[in-house]
Amino acid sequence: MNLKELYQEIILDHGKNPRNLGKFDNFNKDAKGHNPLCGDKVHLFLKLDENKKVNDISFEGEGCAISMASASIMTDLMKGKSEKDAKEIIEKFLDMIKEKDDIDTKLLEEDEKTKLMSLGGVKNYPMRVKCATLSWHALSSALEDFQKEVTTE
Ligand code: ZN
Repeated sequence: MNLKELYQEIILDHGKNPRNLGKFDNFNKDAKGHNPLCGDKVHLFLKLDENKKVNDISFEGEGCAISMASASIMTDLMKGKSEKDAKEIIEKFLDMIKEKDDIDTKLLEEDEKTKLMSLGGVKNYPMRVKCATLSWHALSSALEDFQKEVTTE
């Protein structure tokens, strides 16, 4: 199996059988995303614990295989990450999906990077980039909201 086939297989797998699908009860942050160009919708649920670590994360949504696979892969690898690390991973992922050939971070294992790189094929298709980044922007907005609440407390 070459790399391109491996990437396709990862997207198909996560697109058909999304991980972390469905709302859970005790989330303390959530954010919605909508990609009208393609019709993708995502509602992200997040539980940050007292140490600002991602205790649990899930999503509800509907849309194309790319958007669902991206949300599935993203929620999978954000579990257990700190808020700070999550933000760095979001930034590096968005860099990769838009223009870079690699994900330049030490925060991810090689197999986690491979999963993210599988979405990198959308680079040449600006419409598809919006599908792949939708859930990531939703996570970013959920985290920003959390920060605001922390500073007022
Ligand atoms: Zn889409």
